[in-house]
Amino acid sequence: MLCFRWIGCPLFAAVAWSSLGGAPIAAQTAWKAGVAKVKITPEKPMWLAGYSSRTKPAEGAMHDLWVKALALEAADGSRGVVVSADLLGFPKALYEGIIERAGKDHGVQRRQVMLTSSHTHSGPALSGALMDCYPLDDQQKALIEEYSRQLVEKVAGAIGQALAQMAPATLWRGQGSTDFGVNRRNNGEAEVVKLREQGLQPKGPSDHDVPVLVVRSPEGPLRAVVFGYACHSTTLSGYEWSGDYSGFTQIALEKEYPGSVAMFYSGCGADQNPLPRRTVELCQKYGKMLGDAVQEVVGKPLEPIDSKLQTAFEFADVGMEGIATPKSLEEQSKDSEIYARRARRLGALLEQGEKFPTSYPVPVQVWRLGGQQLWIALGGEVVVDYSLAFKAKYGAQTWVAGYSNDCMSYIPSERIWKEGRYESNAFFVYGVPADRWAPDIEQKLTAAVDRLVKGLQ
Ligand SMILES: [Zn+2]
Repeated sequence: MLCFRWIGCPLFAAVAWSSLGGAPIAAQTAWKAGVAKVKITPEKPMWLAGYSSRTKPAEGAMHDLWVKALALEAADGSRGVVVSADLLGFPKALYEGIIERAGKDHGVQRRQVMLTSSHTHSGPALSGALMDCYPLDDQQKALIEEYSRQLVEKVAGAIGQALAQMAPATLWRGQGSTDFGVNRRNNGEAEVVKLREQGLQPKGPSDHDVPVLVVRSPEGPLRAVVFGYACHSTTLSGYEWSGDYSGFTQIALEKEYPGSVAMFYSGCGADQNPLPRRTVELCQKYGKMLGDAVQEVVGKPLEPIDSKLQTAFEFADVGMEGIATPKSLEEQSKDSEIYARRARRLGALLEQGEKFPTSYPVPVQVWRLGGQQLWIALGGEVVVDYSLAFKAKYGAQTWVAGYSNDCMSYIPSERIWKEGRYESNAFFVYGVPADRWAPDIEQKLTAAVDRLVKGLQ
């Protein structure tokens, strides 16, 4: 009965196919896929990313951190490589370095590479990201630069390895659900605990979907499972390396499906937290909830994805307000140590004659698999309104990844931009030389997605 789990085995595939009235099996088996997994756990005691409150570097690992790559090739030779990473997100300079290396060494273009991340707050600080948040000495700054240079090589290497290991495969899709992600703007942690005790749901909006992509060898065994969830990876805030809840999920799935690679990407969860939080037990619990949701999907008949891959990309030029000046920096430097560090850094740049830009190129990427599965990937910390709007517009099965390619700041919707508070204007955390985005950010990004989707026709 082992075959029961392997929906892709010939007997079960026929059942899945006939019950769904999908495309012929031959179309699915025309895929090729390759996977790679590279360890990125820092070997030296480096600063952890994501919180300004930490006072010392990491003190060991709860589990290892990974970069994983899945390369896909459709029947007509079209290729794409999706990368997952136990990182807060890729800063712009690292993203550009990876794209350059992957292009030069492995012949893939920008639109064909989707760099996602889990947004774990227990991964390493990276060069050019949130540097004003941390009280770093020169030794830590040097370690971060060294690690970041090596990371570019490791990610480009993982992309190359995945492409080199391409072999016949079948692709399948499904969707599950789990509800530990809570809208953090509308619910306090204590309130959430009370509501849960009463069997009630916290206030929304939230997106509890768990999109699942399954890659199998033609004989049946699972080779890769790619899944997402729209919730901050902030259960833990300590001093050990970990992938937070999704780190536990990935470990459990790779144990459950021996020989496979489990890859997690964060969805539009910038305004969602795993609540309650801050204990290892809760982190493991959320990891199990997500893993159970994925396994339930994998264990049911899945929908086959035809062998067709379209990839598109553009930078959406989004305006910014409150561009930093010597006067504004001087005033803000009194607010907090983060603002003071930012003021010193940006002030020095202004003195060197640097002119700060008035807009920023936000990466927008759209893939379509098999003619039916839309996969949208936006840069930055994207709030949940985006995934809900894209699903309303393009269909409930649309996959939406945030934190993709370049994580430069929060990405508020028009609603949140108007409401204000942290997710609307947290530019200072990222060290951006402006106060916030222009009010038309949602219009600009959704128009870019629309253009790319139409271009796939
Ligand atoms: Zn965040």
